[in-house]
Parts: sequence; C-alpha cells; structure tokens
Amino acid sequence: MRSGEEALAGAALLAWYDRAARVMPWRVGPAERMGGARPDAYAVWLSEVMLQQTTVAAVRDYFRRFTARWPSVSDLAAAADADVMAEWAGLGYYARARNLLKCARAVVSDHGGRFPETAEGLRALPGIGPYTAAAVAAIAFDEPAVVVDGNVERVVSRLWAVTDPLPGAKVRLTELAGRITPADRPGDHAQAMMDLGATICTPRSPDCAACPVAAFCTARAQGIAASLPRKAPKAEKPTRRGFAYVVLDPDGAVLLERRPDRGLLGGTLGFPGSDWTEAPDPRPPLSADWRVAPAAVRHTFTHFHLELTVMTARATGAGFTSRAAFRPGDLPTLMRKVWEAAQSADWSQPD
Ligand code: SF4
Repeated sequence: MRSGEEALAGAALLAWYDRAARVMPWRVGPAERMGGARPDAYAVWLSEVMLQQTTVAAVRDYFRRFTARWPSVSDLAAAADADVMAEWAGLGYYARARNLLKCARAVVSDHGGRFPETAEGLRALPGIGPYTAAAVAAIAFDEPAVVVDGNVERVVSRLWAVTDPLPGAKVRLTELAGRITPADRPGDHAQAMMDLGATICTPRSPDCAACPVAAFCTARAQGIAASLPRKAPKAEKPTRRGFAYVVLDPDGAVLLERRPDRGLLGGTLGFPGSDWTEAPDPRPPLSADWRVAPAAVRHTFTHFHLELTVMTARATGAGFTSRAAFRPGDLPTLMRKVWEAAQSADWSQPD
C-alpha cells in the first residue's frame, strides 16, 4: 500500500464489512450497530478468550453453552471451578479456563461487575494479554486500539508486501496495522480485518479477485501474496512419554484425580499418571495386576508430542467415581483419548 492510501483502504474495508460481515453469536453486526445496539463486553471477552488457538466453528457451541449457563460476568464469577473446567473440556489450553475465572472474579470484586473500557484498564486484569485487551477495547468500547491476530498479520503483511519473517516482523506489522486503523468505527474495522483474513485473504490461496482492498495491495501487485507472511523455521517438537492408569472397581467405577492447578491441564480431571519426560518412571496409583492396553495415546501440545502407554487394572479402594457419575465428555481431550485406549484392553481379566 502506498502512503496516503490508508484512509481509502480503511473505508473500502468497512463498506465491505457492512455488506459481508460474518454472523457470530457474540457479534453485534453492522446493521444492528447502526440501529443503536452495543456489544456486550462480557460476550466479546468470552469469545476472544475462547478463540485463542481455536477456530470459530469449534467455539460457537461452547460460547452458547457458557452464556446460557452463565449469562453475565457475575454469574461466571460465582461458578464453581469444577463446573467451568468441565464445560471447557475439549477446548484445550486449560490455563485459559483458569484465567477466565480469575478474570471474571476480578471484574466483579475490583470493578463492580463492569469491564474496564480501555485497553490499558483491561490489560491489568488477570489473564488478559495485549491482543485480548485491544480486541475487547476496540470491539466492545470502540477504542481505536490496534488489534493484531494471525489473520490481521497475514492481511497487513500482504497489503504492504512485508517479506521479513515472523515473529521478528511483528513490531513492523503492528505499526502498519495501526496506520490503517480508523478513529471512526475501530471495532468494526478490527472485525472486518479478522473477517477478511478468515474468508478472503486466506493462508494458501487468497481470493484477490473478491478482495475489497485489492487495489491497495502491494503483494497482489507483485504476485507474492500467497507466500506471505514469511515465517522463521520452527524448531522440531520433542517427544515426551508417560504412563496413564485406568483402574475400574468391580462395579465399573473409575479412579480419577484432579491435576494440580499449575502446569499443563492444570485443575482438570483425569486418570492418574506418571511424569511426562523422555524416560518416565512408572507411577501406578495403587498396587494391582496392571496390564498394558493394546492401544497407546498420541497427543500434541504446543511445545511437544506426548506418547502415553495406557495401563489398566481392576481393583477396589476408596475415591472411585461411580460409572453413573463419570462423564468422559467432561474430560480434556487427552484424557478422553486415554479412556478410548483403555477400551481396547481385555477387561475380562480377573478382579
Ligand atoms: Fe489479501 Fe489478495 Fe486482498 Fe491482498 S488483494 S489483501 S493478498 S486477498
């Protein structure tokens, strides 16, 4: 984009958004906004936290369930931790769910149940980083905050043909995104950039013919759009290993434990297990005739792959969860995989 074209490009983008905005359960669309409706900061914040590392399609149902069960930030703040973790099960990155609760409680205890209306004020809340603070400030309160997620990075890198690789190019992309952010309707602008990146300026095959800002796009003119943004090569993920223990009592009740609050899957319910290292030591929760389940579990976290050997046994003891109360769907995805792998075991072994 040439200098001086930012306002024209911003106006073209907003005109396109007015016609083509995606419908989302947490969004107040352009027509409703023109009719005077304002976005609910709670809905905007909740959706932005859920959308981190997760697709819109995956988030829709979670968002509907959360807001049906906890319609306001005060309702969420008063929720039991275990209920929130169970509703979050399957969305992954469980630190987000713990921070969600901390944040809701801080909004209620420190701000009378109302979200601060500036990015700076929002940033001071637990679990809200620069991106979420900017997104909520822009979308809910129309602060001209510069909102830069992966979609926006892609669009901006193409509009200005930035060939420096990410993550190093982040600062420059944020500065350029700021140039195209208007003082008028910054919330709609932020959502328009996200929509453009998600629907037209897509990673592999941008649909430049349908793009409302094609006339301003340097990467399109140079024929390099699909190759941007460039990314520095990633380090190979290491593989860690571990053991997971599925033990049933004679009635089919299941031994579960809640993980410590800190660390991966912190605060979630799951099967007892060992540490996850290159060479883990077995750590069965009780002594029993342990068998190796035929199926193993493979799961990928952000920084490593995990391979779990699933051990099964029948035993009696205290602290089992009855089969009627056990809901595999409330477990994190990794633990659901462990449960599925345990079904491959021969459960006819003697008690
Ligand atoms: Fe993306 Fe193409 Fe539009 Fe440029 S013209 S912003 S590359 S879709």
